[in-house]
Amino acid sequence: MVESVIKKYAVMGDPISHSLSPRIHKYFAAQTKKEILYEAINVKKNKLLDNAKSFFDNGGEGLNITTPLKMEAFQMSDALSDRAKNAQAVNTLHYIDGQVYGDNTDGIGLIKDISINHALDLDGKDILVLGAGGAVRGIIEPLLSSHPNSLIIANRTSEKAELLVKLFNNEPKIKSCAFDKLKGRHFDLIINGTAAGLSNELPMLDQNVLSAKTICYDLMYGHEDTKFVAWSKSCGVQTALDGLGMLVEQAAESFHIWNGIRPETHVVIDALRQDWQ
Ligand code: NDP
Repeated sequence: MVESVIKKYAVMGDPISHSLSPRIHKYFAAQTKKEILYEAINVKKNKLLDNAKSFFDNGGEGLNITTPLKMEAFQMSDALSDRAKNAQAVNTLHYIDGQVYGDNTDGIGLIKDISINHALDLDGKDILVLGAGGAVRGIIEPLLSSHPNSLIIANRTSEKAELLVKLFNNEPKIKSCAFDKLKGRHFDLIINGTAAGLSNELPMLDQNVLSAKTICYDLMYGHEDTKFVAWSKSCGVQTALDGLGMLVEQAAESFHIWNGIRPETHVVIDALRQDWQ
């Protein structure tokens, strides 16, 4: 039997028209027999507080927050989970008893996709993360908890990568590095956490940093290979993955926060890939 109370959720960000979150949450709702409304709302930078407040005032119970609003979501939260505090960025808001609770499910989403869906072990690996925005803030601590040998962050605006590293000042494994100083270094895993793909661009990574055995993972996703995945393959990389699995896993964690039920993810990942064929 389907529950009769319709709960209202949305994803806010800019751009937002590409977002798969409404479809994913519809799949989760059908699977768990919940009746929900889930919409995608375009919200410009510096406009989250007003839009989120109005959404909650009108009966909304939860929001997913995407680029470029995760820091604003962090600032507007009345209470925060430990992982949101570590990330200093929020991608999930839950409105309970007049309070806005902020969480960050990006990191757990990425780790589940890498370690469960793709069965990759991060223990002892050398990892390069490109970008230092809201998404990257969410994945650093969970990556460190997977016991890599080293974790390097490179960002277009290098000061932001340096600031991010400072948040983990007791952890010698994590360092920042300018893009042009990466040449000649080897990495087991390169994660593209930049928003370059949203404007069909590539981060300025020298292709000598890649080898056939490097695993490339793009947080971005799409019905065709993303620009970064296509570029990695063209450089001879054998394993180049997109972020669809992470997207579904982080959404499942948000759904769990809101509804107390953890939906099955692999069927949703398969269904979305099937829809694209
Ligand atoms: P933010 O806007 O918070 O950060 C953007 C980052 O990308 C910054 O580090 C910025 O560098 C960098 N950047 C933007 N354009 C370029 C470019 N042309 N070349 C190099 N670097 C660039 O975005 P988010 O962190 O929220 O999102 C990043 C990406 O991750 C997006 O593509 C988003 O769709 C994806 N994502 C996927 C998720 C998933 O579940 N699969 C979850 C969350 C995000 P600078 O500091 O110099 O401006």
